Amino acid sequence: MATDNLTAVLHGIEDLRLEQRPVPEIADDEVLLAMDSVGICGSDVHYLAHGRIGDFVLTKPMIIGHEAAGVVAKLGKNVTTLQVGDRVAIEPGVPCRYCDHCKQGRYNLCADMVFCATPPYDGNLTRYYKHAADFCFKLPDHVSMEEGALLEPLSVGVHACRRAGVGLGSKVLILGAGPIGLVTLLAAQAMGASEILITDLVQQRLDVAKELGATHTLLLQRDQSAEETVKVVHQTMSEVPDKSIDCCGAESSARLAIFATRSGGVVVVVGMGAPEIKLPLINALAREIDIRGVFRYCNDYSAALALVASGKVNVKRLVTHHYDITETAEAFETSRRGTGGAIKVMIHVQPRDANN
Ligand code: NAD
Ligand code: ZN
Repeated sequence: MATDNLTAVLHGIEDLRLEQRPVPEIADDEVLLAMDSVGICGSDVHYLAHGRIGDFVLTKPMIIGHEAAGVVAKLGKNVTTLQVGDRVAIEPGVPCRYCDHCKQGRYNLCADMVFCATPPYDGNLTRYYKHAADFCFKLPDHVSMEEGALLEPLSVGVHACRRAGVGLGSKVLILGAGPIGLVTLLAAQAMGASEILITDLVQQRLDVAKELGATHTLLLQRDQSAEETVKVVHQTMSEVPDKSIDCCGAESSARLAIFATRSGGVVVVVGMGAPEIKLPLINALAREIDIRGVFRYCNDYSAALALVASGKVNVKRLVTHHYDITETAEAFETSRRGTGGAIKVMIHVQPRDANN
């Protein structure tokens, strides 16, 4: 059995260390995974910089990382759906399976969710990690390990578009062209949207959105008011959008989402900014705008995988940087600074493409 289990452990604010951890013992319904690719998410960077996100507070050392894929190294004795050597994407949250939310199929709302790299639970930027077998998705041979890791953010995009009810001919406004805005763009296209306008404050991100097929891009200024921007959105799109999906969390953006959406339409809030913001609620009420939240994903991994495996969605363009696990500190630095147009920074626990 392997003894090298190099692991990225967040000990506190600005204190991320690489250290050896014991190889985990698996339960009967779990698999041991030899980790391959782990993407860095904004939330990982946020925990490094602030030690908390809202009510989730780092109070003890936590293994970082949750956008991941690995190779099955060992099976628990009840596992029948996977085999040693299977390449899998890891859905990082395992719910209790017993509560009402779980039983009703909305397991992302489970209060007892064990979610990778959300305190107090460990993530998977490590060489060996254990996970519930039924939250591992076997990848077809032609889907790479990096694509497997990218199913995590893509599932957020799929969930957001499903919550918005994006379908054939939808006119979609997406606010924010970071990784989440971009995967939402990809999911919306695949789900039949006919026109998509995406906004950002950074031209480079909009250029990527355009490359990925956004119909329109709109560069905003940081202090630009929603009231003045809404006119530009309406002039740019052929019709007033019926779905708006906020993927940045700024107050001006959530306000714009409401003002810009056609009466009877849907606003979906994915971006997490300040816990309380000022919204034109009466405007939303009087025009019957449905405002819906998104929390991660729920039963979306298999759709995300099908989109990638079928070639309907190409997530590869999102990855701009590659690092080895031994370079984790630099990888985080690149991600947080956005150096070199960084969008998605991928950490390789095994040599890149070793398992492709
Ligand atoms: P990111 O910070 O990389 O991207 C946000 C983008 O929005 C940036 O490109 C930024 O320039 C742009 N932006 C900032 N202010 C803006 C404004 N007023 N108008 C338009 N664009 C603006 O983050 P990300 O990884 O893409 O994630 C986006 C948001 O989604 C974050 O708030 C994150 O916390 C949240 N998120 C939520 C969930 C969920 O389950 N609800 C899951 C993942 C991420
Ligand atoms: Zn539950």
